[in-house]
Amino acid sequence: MEENSKPPVRMSTPLPFLSGMGNVRANRLAKLGLRTAQDVAFFFPRDYERPAPPRPVGELREGEPASLIGKITDVELASRSPGKSVFGAIVENETGAVRILFFNQPYRAEQLRVDQKVMISGTPKLTGLRMEFVHPQITLFDSDEDIAKPKMLALYSLTEGVRQKDLRVLVADVLEAVAGQFVEVMPLSLRESSAQQLREAGIELAGTLPEIETALQQIHQPTNEASMQAARTRLVFQELLVMQLALAMRRRKLTSDLKSPPLTPSAMIDARILNRFPFELTSDQLRAIQEIKGDMSCQFPMNRLLQGDVGSGKTVVAVYAMMLAVANEHQAVMMAPTEVLARQHFDTLNKILAGSRVRIGLLCGSLTKSQRSKTIRQAAAGEIDILVGTQALLYGDIQFNKLGLCVIDEQHKFGVGQRVALRSGGVDPHYLVMSATPIPRSMAMTLFGDVELSTLREKPPGRATVNTYLAHDGWKDRWWSFVRDRLQEGRQAFVVAPRVLSSNDAEEEKGEEASEDVSSVETVYQDLCEKTLPDFRIGLLHGRMRSEDKLQTMRAFSEGRFDVLVSTTVIEVGIDVPNATVMTIFGAERFGLAQLHQLRGRISRGSHAGHLCLFTDGDLPPTENERLKLLEETEDGFALAEADFRLRGPGDLLGRKQSGLAPLRIADPSRDLEILIVARAMAQSMIDENPELDSPELERLKAQVMRRYGKRLDLGDVA
Ligand code: ADP
Ligand code: MG
Repeated sequence: MEENSKPPVRMSTPLPFLSGMGNVRANRLAKLGLRTAQDVAFFFPRDYERPAPPRPVGELREGEPASLIGKITDVELASRSPGKSVFGAIVENETGAVRILFFNQPYRAEQLRVDQKVMISGTPKLTGLRMEFVHPQITLFDSDEDIAKPKMLALYSLTEGVRQKDLRVLVADVLEAVAGQFVEVMPLSLRESSAQQLREAGIELAGTLPEIETALQQIHQPTNEASMQAARTRLVFQELLVMQLALAMRRRKLTSDLKSPPLTPSAMIDARILNRFPFELTSDQLRAIQEIKGDMSCQFPMNRLLQGDVGSGKTVVAVYAMMLAVANEHQAVMMAPTEVLARQHFDTLNKILAGSRVRIGLLCGSLTKSQRSKTIRQAAAGEIDILVGTQALLYGDIQFNKLGLCVIDEQHKFGVGQRVALRSGGVDPHYLVMSATPIPRSMAMTLFGDVELSTLREKPPGRATVNTYLAHDGWKDRWWSFVRDRLQEGRQAFVVAPRVLSSNDAEEEKGEEASEDVSSVETVYQDLCEKTLPDFRIGLLHGRMRSEDKLQTMRAFSEGRFDVLVSTTVIEVGIDVPNATVMTIFGAERFGLAQLHQLRGRISRGSHAGHLCLFTDGDLPPTENERLKLLEETEDGFALAEADFRLRGPGDLLGRKQSGLAPLRIADPSRDLEILIVARAMAQSMIDENPELDSPELERLKAQVMRRYGKRLDLGDVA
């Protein structure tokens, strides 16, 4: 086919139809995901080459990075031995000459011929009388015009057989061929108001957000840093706005057919509730309460995640919310992941509400049948105001009389759209979910787009810190003698091991891999009882015990009838024994950072300093383990969560839940957090004002939202 007979290029034109594009090249480009002209236009650079401004030869300084533009005037390729060569050339301009050198790159002789115009960038060295650049970056120039202004050059992700230059040329060709065909989804008024908001959020931006065509041209071939940044801001903002619009539509969809009782605060209720707490609330607690009050007074359900490190005082905030519901003559339930925790919450509530008229019930596995049916009957009759229990029990077929609020404690794993159905009389309760596994804000706003977030960063005053030690070789005796001293002072100790059974037993158990050298609570328990701490009272707790036995053990420990509790991570969640200040963890390398931090939180409940010592099972001592070292270095749960994300990816932390969101091409939620916040607010107000985005101006934007997210988020008809 003759070249000029090719049809005009459209956005959807497949690459092999571009002039000069052979199948081999097209196949290589397909490896980068590039199949159509549109793919190329939206193939964003991963970075830019930013040449230092070119300098006259006389101003070059040894050791200072610099660029120089000139012409090759002399070349020499010397082969010293097979495979060893050195290529040297002189680059000259009107200010002088420098030498460039390449070792073992004989192809440079092809690239850099006499009279070729180049820009070189690198760090010069003075040798003899000349400045010399060894292995500088080279930019070849074809025309005199280019020489006048060296530009920022886009750097793309590459694949075999595709060079930077190939991509730059391809992108330039495509942008030229499809000029005028770009669909602008953001009308001028929206670009202007967005620019305004972005500036108010502290993002540097001159003028309005550039049009799509300008933005694409500037992201690929920037005139300068500022125009590239403006282009990037526009493209990032658009991508995040589309995502946030989808999430806002989804929130609206979820809430429009849900109706909740407005539970309104008043100054009197507020004072009455706050009076019940034996301490001043921290300012973080007060802020969270403020946010919750705002949500609960609405007619659609609150869906809020309260996150805060272990011991940051989340329970108090939840108690406030529950009392607000009760003050408005509604019921509240509080769900805990384990019976031990449920009982603990029940006790806490009874303490705080002692002498009030609030009726509190407990529903858990160890109740007798008649106790259980009595509690269920009371809940249905409205004779219980606050019902505490384990999740499994409360999700059953319980009928409430007038349920207003549902609190879920220590829930780590939930994603977009995971809502629990707990309705009563056709109304939906408000939801407050608590988690001690901090989720970075960027993550929360994307993955958990339909969840509001409150954070407790500050700890209640008077909290002792925990000293974390990584066990060195031969530390065992020293450590146990330290533990013994603390026990003799009247403190208590946790000992944690990763597994329940010894390896012999494990072989008989399905689902347990049997491995010789993994610590198990049973072997540890035996060892402590017989050898290490024979003179102390030691309890054993693990997930395979009957829940009644677990409770008994736990209670004995919290009442001080055991000095030591040997346990699996059952104690990870929420157990509150202020007198326990020492913890030993075996097989520490088997636990996640977040989990270890949770465990550590168990010994910072009181006013005595805590001590944690980590032992590993494997060959590597704890001191050689990156994660354990991090744990030793910081007590900040948020920093650890970020590190956990970095080291293990979010998958583990979020329980492998599908996020349901489209992959992002240019935005990076953690890097672009400020833009994300603006996009979210903008999306929310757009949807508040115009829930279906029904206006001719927004038609294209809506179409894009639907195209990207309609199916994924089940947003209903694609218009
Ligand atoms: P978590 O966030 O781990 O659930 P809790 O709510 O169990 O934390 O609180 C930990 C401890 O701190 C509890 O004993 C609680 O009574 C206490 N506490 C909570 N808030 C405050 C406060 N503002 N001042 C002093 N102590 C507080
Ligand atoms: Mg808690």
